Amino acid sequence: MRIILLGPPGSGKGTQGSLIEKKYGFPKISTGDFLRIEVQEGTLLGKEAEAKMRRGELVNDDIVVGMIKSRIVKPEYKRGYIMDGFPRNIVQAQRLEEIDPDRKEIAIEIFLSDQAVFERLGERRVCPGCERIYNLKDKPPKKEDICDACEEKLILRDDDRAEVIKDRMKVYHEQTEALIDYYTKKNVYFKIEGEGTIETVFEKISALLDREIAGSQEVEITK
Ligand code: AMP
Repeated sequence: MRIILLGPPGSGKGTQGSLIEKKYGFPKISTGDFLRIEVQEGTLLGKEAEAKMRRGELVNDDIVVGMIKSRIVKPEYKRGYIMDGFPRNIVQAQRLEEIDPDRKEIAIEIFLSDQAVFERLGERRVCPGCERIYNLKDKPPKKEDICDACEEKLILRDDDRAEVIKDRMKVYHEQTEALIDYYTKKNVYFKIEGEGTIETVFEKISALLDREIAGSQEVEITK
């Protein structure tokens, strides 16, 4: 099973992806997290990606596809995986199918209006140590600006600044939204309303996954 999480920045793909990982045991793959690690470590790849990330633009397809390719061949991804932030355009979706064909997949859009995205990202803080995500309004840390888990000082991601959010939304509407049509045609697309608490959104995703995973097991049994 391949679970692809679609939705604009700030819609909750990372948070919901982690909850899916915990409940269903599929590991989460986040190209954004991988790239941020490369930038932090100052690798060649990180240096290449950094400027684009700062501007809210997409990093070169070959770079992100390469990152995915080197990971999903590993044994821990054999049963399935969750994708957060990949694919981001049609080319990436096609390359993914070439790398790992014949895998049952489900694409879940966590829908959020542009206005809600701006509000949410302005409130988002992340821990530079463990990447844990907080929201100052809905999911604040216990101590102000400090990570509950590793006690590092929380930061506003560079690309969560208002002027960059505008550019990220432009990229989303121009390139990533086309995937909705792409996965609708493949008959694997589902839409979930992203407003509401983390728990209520996760309940909806869980209900969908329970149904889809049970369905796919029936198909395997009757094969
Ligand atoms: P995210 O954490 O998913 O919002 O990603 C942060 C930034 O990393 C994006 O704005 C892009 O610059 C880059 N990025 C992440 N995933 C991809 C991808 N699949 N393709 C191209 N760029 C990506």
